[in-house]
This record gives sequence, C-alpha cells and structure tokens, in this order.
Amino acid sequence: MIMKKNEIKRINLGGSNSYLIKGSDGYILVDTGIKGAGKKLVSELKILNAKPENIRLIILTHDHYDHTQGLMEVKQITGAPVAIHEAENALPNQEQSLKVNESSFLFRMIVKVFGSITPKQELNDIIADIKIYNEMDLNEYGVDAKLYHVPGHSPGSVCLITADNQCVIGDTLFNMFPGTHYPIIVYNRKILADTYKRLSILNPAVYYPGHGKPITMEMFQKRVMNRSKYFKTGGQ
Ligand SMILES: [Zn+2]
Ligand SMILES: [Zn+2]
Repeated sequence: MIMKKNEIKRINLGGSNSYLIKGSDGYILVDTGIKGAGKKLVSELKILNAKPENIRLIILTHDHYDHTQGLMEVKQITGAPVAIHEAENALPNQEQSLKVNESSFLFRMIVKVFGSITPKQELNDIIADIKIYNEMDLNEYGVDAKLYHVPGHSPGSVCLITADNQCVIGDTLFNMFPGTHYPIIVYNRKILADTYKRLSILNPAVYYPGHGKPITMEMFQKRVMNRSKYFKTGGQ
C-alpha cells in the first residue's frame, strides 16, 4: 500500500489513535501511543511502504499518557523532532488541569471508576524540540497543513488542519460513545466552548479524533454545535 499526498492514515500504536500524514516530501506523525509503540510503528510503516527516517516531525496533540507514553520509542526509531504546545509542556499547568473535570456527570463518573482501576496518569516530562504557541505552519516539514491551539480538554491541546480541510483533532472531540463527541475529561468547559466556536468557523470537512472513528462536519454540527448545554456556563 502506498499513501497518496495529503492522505491521513489512522495507525494503532496502542491506547489512542495516532495518525500518519503524507506530505510532498516525507511524513508527519501525530501522537505516539503507549508503551510498545515502537514495535507497532515499525510494522505499520512496513504495510504503508514508509521509512521511519522519512517521518520529519512528531506532533503531540496533548500530554495525556495514552498519547505520549510511546514517545521515546518512536523518537528513537524515527529521529524526528517533537512538537508540543508550550502550555502543555509546563508540568504545573497539566497537574492543575487534571485536578478538575468539568465534563458531564456521567463522564465524570466513568473517569472516576476507570481512574481507580487503571494506573494514575503519569505526566511525561516531554522534552520538546519545538514549542507550539498559537498557530504553526507545517510546510517546512513537507506537509501543507497548519496547527491550531484548541484548549479545553487540556490547556495546550492542538489540532492539525490540512490545506484540503481535514482535521486531526486529538481528544478535543471523542468518538467512543454513541451520539456524543464531548470529551470525557474537560479541564475548562467555557474554554472548550470557545474552541468549538472557532472550529465551527474553520469548518473542516472531517475530524480524526484521538479515540474512535472519523467525525464528519455534519456530525460535529449536530452533536456539538447544536447542543446548547455545551455552551452554557455553570451547571451541566
Ligand atoms: Zn486526553
Ligand atoms: Zn486520549
């Protein structure tokens, strides 16, 4: 299998979705899965006829362990520089954000139950080669796309939007539970609501989430933008 230019492939490095994006000259990898990601990456790349050294940049959508635990293995194999948002790289910020969860009551309960049976979130002290601030153009890494700051799930979440209007969104949108795309962890509802309004203006045709299958523009409008409860402050 050979990827086409601008094609986005979901690859499984464990724990969450990672995405490989093909540019005119090499690839960008978004998110690095959990422990054991290195082995998985090698076999996934073989299937796609891609060489590890042709991955020119690793982007972390945010610093939750299910997206970053595999980073050191992946970095070793690819030798690519790592980009993460400046707010996400600051451990005090992240620690603070994990103390609150402003998601829906049901999701807060789910996270609580799972939190008590799974290991505690270990915050990775990620050494960023590149810090992302507001926006970042990815053309110098061979891919016609841009990064945007989309806080709400975490303080320094970012998404990638290609020139042909596809969006790798990280955990800002979920696709794990029927009929909803709201994240199960939200550090600030109001900030997340503002992020959704900005996304709605950018209006990507499709979102590739950190968990689950792609979400279309119509699904986003119907299940996020049309639900006033996500845009109210206070209460649920
Ligand atoms: Zn997350
Ligand atoms: Zn996640």
